[in-house]
Amino acid sequence: MDEKMSEVISDLKSYLEYLKGMGIASLPTSEIKPDGPSPSRIITLEEVRKELGDCKRCKLHQTRRTIVFGEGNEKATLMFIGEGPGYDEDVQGRPFVGKAGQLLTKIIESINLSREEVYIANIVKCRPPQNRNPEPDEIESCNPFLMKQIRVIQPKIICALGTFAAQTLLKTDTKISQLRGKLFDLEGITVIPTYHPAFLLRNPERKREVWEDMKKIAGLLLAP
Ligand code: URA
Repeated sequence: MDEKMSEVISDLKSYLEYLKGMGIASLPTSEIKPDGPSPSRIITLEEVRKELGDCKRCKLHQTRRTIVFGEGNEKATLMFIGEGPGYDEDVQGRPFVGKAGQLLTKIIESINLSREEVYIANIVKCRPPQNRNPEPDEIESCNPFLMKQIRVIQPKIICALGTFAAQTLLKTDTKISQLRGKLFDLEGITVIPTYHPAFLLRNPERKREVWEDMKKIAGLLLAP
C-alpha cells in the first residue's frame, strides 16, 4: 500500500471515530431505501412506527388483524427478536403474549430482567396465515423497519430466537443447532442465537441449552 493510500485510510478511520463519538453508530447501507429517512435522522421508535404506517408493503397485510410493531425499552441493552406474530399477538398487537410468550417472559426473568427493561420484536410484524413460515418477500419487506428499530435502540446484545430470526439477521442458512450459543456481529451489536420458546414448549429437554445461552448473555451485559 502506498503512503497516500495509508494516509486516506488513516483519515477515514479518524472521521469514523469522530462520528462514533457523536453517537452515529452506522452509516447508510444499500438496505436503506433512498426515499426513507437515513439512520442518523431516525431518532425515535415513534418515527419508525409512523413511517411504517398502515403497512401494505407485503401480502401479509391482507390477513393480519394488527401490526405487531414491537415493545419495550427504547434504550434497552438487550433485544429479543422472534419470528412473527401468532394468533394471540395478532389479536393483542403485542409480541410474545401467547404460550411461547409466557415462556419468553420467564426466560427474561431468569436473568433478573423484566419485559419492560428489554425490547421484543419479530422478523415480520404481521401474522402469517395459519402460522406458516414467513416467506422471503415478506421478510425482505419488513427487514428495513426492524433494522431501523435496531439502529434506534442500539442494544448491546440481540438474542435471536429460533431459526428464522437467526438466519435472517446473520444472512446464513446454517442450522439453529449450530448457531445457538455462539457470538456474531451485526453492525457492532453482538448477536446470540438461541432456541425459540415455542420449540422449547415442544422439546423441554432443550431448556438447559437456552439457560446456558442466557447465562452467557447476562455475563456479557455486565462486562464493561
Ligand atoms: N412467536 C414469535 O416468533 N413471535 C411472537 O411474537 C410470538 C410467537
